Amino acid sequence: MISIFENMFTSGNPNCFKDINNSTEAAVRKLLIESRKIVIFTHKNPDGDAIGSALGLTQALRDRGKDVHVVLPDSAPGFLRWLPAYQDVVIFGYNPEKAKGMVESADLVFCLDFGDTERIGKLEPVVQTFQGPSILLDHHPAGKNFASHNFVYTNKGSTAEIVFSFLDHFDLLEYLNESGATCLLTGIITDTLGFKVASSNPDVFEVTMKLMALGANKDLIFDKVYNQYSADRMQLLGFSLSSRMIIYEKYQAACIYLSIADLERFNHKKGDTEGFVNYPLSMANVRFSVLFTEQDDCIKLSLRSKPDFAVNQIAKKYYEGGGHRNAAGGKFFGTMSDAIKSFENILQVTFDTSGEIVNG
Ligand code: 5GP
Ligand code: MN
Repeated sequence: MISIFENMFTSGNPNCFKDINNSTEAAVRKLLIESRKIVIFTHKNPDGDAIGSALGLTQALRDRGKDVHVVLPDSAPGFLRWLPAYQDVVIFGYNPEKAKGMVESADLVFCLDFGDTERIGKLEPVVQTFQGPSILLDHHPAGKNFASHNFVYTNKGSTAEIVFSFLDHFDLLEYLNESGATCLLTGIITDTLGFKVASSNPDVFEVTMKLMALGANKDLIFDKVYNQYSADRMQLLGFSLSSRMIIYEKYQAACIYLSIADLERFNHKKGDTEGFVNYPLSMANVRFSVLFTEQDDCIKLSLRSKPDFAVNQIAKKYYEGGGHRNAAGGKFFGTMSDAIKSFENILQVTFDTSGEIVNG
């Protein structure tokens, strides 16, 4: 008798590369065999998926005998710097000449976790002048497919899951060791908020199971990512929720706004506000949450929502940004009070007074 699980595993297939056409298949296989010097890029303000994907892919390709370097526009927050081989990463902001030299001598580049070269900030011209072949692995909607080979799967919760399938499909999984598997699992865990969001497709658990079988250390990841906060960060969170949160009951929305002075008061370090935007969504009647963070040149927005409401269109239409349906980002140029006023106007045109979406 065939068990239900046997059926499940023979019919389910997390490999999103299985349907690519023969010419792409052959071209990518050739590139993977012939290229020697590989550069991997990911987006600015890199998150766990960006860094985890880049370092996981790096580890496997290095063990395959390639000369691989990760080049980032700017550094990772402290809670990601423990990842294996993070110390080898080249930060363009600190070392532009070294980064340019690496790109010039590369014979293949990978672009991970961004759909538009605008997302890599000051690295954009460097990437755009690269004449050689490129491979994009990403899960953001509405991207520009700017690479020679674009593998964009918006139904995947993380780019790390796509990197795993890429390695699997192109027969490179045998080179992924426990360090690389830990990097990829970090990407999956951080982009799904520990399997809370963007993880309804059971494939993600099959990939997770395989990464853990390869030695990925789930407990270490949770400890390093979620249990290493400073007291300042916890107090900034408390202050944000008690003194800097506005709830718009009528629109089932909330925002948190933090000025540079607020951040300085709590000795803000890069990454300290990561996750703040999710807190308002844990209230029963809030389905749309925005975090405004004042920066030197603009106010950065993080937008989050519950599944029934899309925020990426709002980020694109009003805030020069974009992202996923339920997690997006953008920018506002002006004062904090203008940013809040603009948000309130957007709420008014997006919802009617009973909270129904009229212009989503
Ligand atoms: P976060 O709020 O964590 O900075 O970003 C959430 C999501 O929105 C991420 O998927 C990120 O790639 C996307 N995102 C953030 N900022 C921008 C932006 O300025 N432009 C675009 N297109 N996407 C963004
Ligand atoms: Mn991602």
